[in-house]
Amino acid sequence: MGQKLRGRAWRRLQQLRMKARAIAAFSDLDPANAILIANHMKSCSCHMCGNPRRYWGEITLQEKRQALRERDQE
Ligand SMILES: [Zn+2]
Repeated sequence: MGQKLRGRAWRRLQQLRMKARAIAAFSDLDPANAILIANHMKSCSCHMCGNPRRYWGEITLQEKRQALRERDQE
């Protein structure tokens, strides 16, 4: 499997592409606000997308990863 080198320029291009898509998809929003959701194309915080502590009393994904990292270091 050849690994493609995808450096900063490629990531910047993809980010630009997704910002353009967000602006097009959320044309009812101000473009400055639309690009804020270019990474996920969602603008909701329902029980599926929102903070799990708020809805389920669980820790967030980020906290789970950190806990795994701390466990693996020991
Ligand atoms: Zn949602």
